[in-house]
Amino acid sequence: METKNTRNHEKNQSLQIRRYPEVSTMPHIDNDVKLDFKDVLLRPKRSTLKSRSEVDLTRSFSFRNSKQVYTGIPIIAANMDTVGTFEMAKVLCKFSLFTAIHKHYSLKQWKEFAVQNSDCLEHLAASSGMSSSDFEQLEEILEAIPQVKYICLDVANGYSEQFVECVKEVRKRFPQHTIMAGNVVTGEMVEELILSGADIIKVGIGPGSVCTTRKKTGVGYPQLSAVMECADAAHGLKGHIISDGGCSCPGDVAKAFGAGADFVMLGGMLAGHSESGGELIERDGKKYKLFYGMSSEMAMKKYAGGVAEYRASEGKTVEVPFKGDVEHTIRDILGGIRSTCTYVGAAKLKELSRRTTFIRVTQQVNPIFNDNK
Ligand code: 5GP
Repeated sequence: METKNTRNHEKNQSLQIRRYPEVSTMPHIDNDVKLDFKDVLLRPKRSTLKSRSEVDLTRSFSFRNSKQVYTGIPIIAANMDTVGTFEMAKVLCKFSLFTAIHKHYSLKQWKEFAVQNSDCLEHLAASSGMSSSDFEQLEEILEAIPQVKYICLDVANGYSEQFVECVKEVRKRFPQHTIMAGNVVTGEMVEELILSGADIIKVGIGPGSVCTTRKKTGVGYPQLSAVMECADAAHGLKGHIISDGGCSCPGDVAKAFGAGADFVMLGGMLAGHSESGGELIERDGKKYKLFYGMSSEMAMKKYAGGVAEYRASEGKTVEVPFKGDVEHTIRDILGGIRSTCTYVGAAKLKELSRRTTFIRVTQQVNPIFNDNK
């Protein structure tokens, strides 16, 4: 029998349903602490190593989808036209480092480089975005130079369905090439890209030295946490990751490896050298080299005739004091990582993440002379 009370109860319930719909419109806040390189230091551990020279930085990987094998020091020059140059590749390959060659070289330039530097080709990737013209150029390069076994598929936002389809198509077209794809920052997307055919996932949205994505869009993820979470997701599927962006010194590169990165990609740290692209400027007796993001106004003017009306640039241009030959910087980086390994007792780079305990800090360097080295 219907009473006043039951009627009121029903009325309240329907009000509640209206007030609290099933799909909440309230934004979600993830309260877990997420960290950047600057927020941690590596804790030293007892070690039997006597000298840095005992540390082996070479790694070997077998890739999940291409079934190819990699051996080398897993540091990669970014596929930016100021960093991923043929000149850079020539030096990096001498040290067993890797270069993601930028996508703006012509087929003719690729062929000329390949003829004169055949020993470097196994340490290179050819890059492409998602456009059909990029893809055609990639096909031509890989057909003309079969020794190039790596493809770097790079888009600012690796979360689109279209990108997943693109990875599937490239995998179908090149079943035996090792595919690097990104960028993403979360485990579920790392898994999706690996299951779609990628071997190595580029991790990093917003940490780059000339990136303005976080400012322009408010989107991003602290890089150390992104690397830890994405490495865990990738390794569960026998995939690999690249920590891409945000390293400002050799210690950051060591932290990225410690966090579980298989490869570390560098832009800013390799900019400003003789082998880097970008205009050389002289002012007041000092030399600088221009370094700019690939989504900066400068890059878009150079390659796309300007910034399209519907978008904003997400990169900036800086003048980097000229640093001379990149060889010195490479030795500095490799020396730093070897030293990290001795501090934590890792005889091989492979052991670094297992020997890593991060300590959260509020300050990592003494700022008295304001020197970042
Ligand atoms: P860095 O080592 O300089 O901190 O970071 C290099 C990385 O920054 C590149 O590999 C690439 O992922 C990213 N990057 C390069 N240019 C741009 C840009 O114009 N905008 C954004 N958002 N990221 C960029």
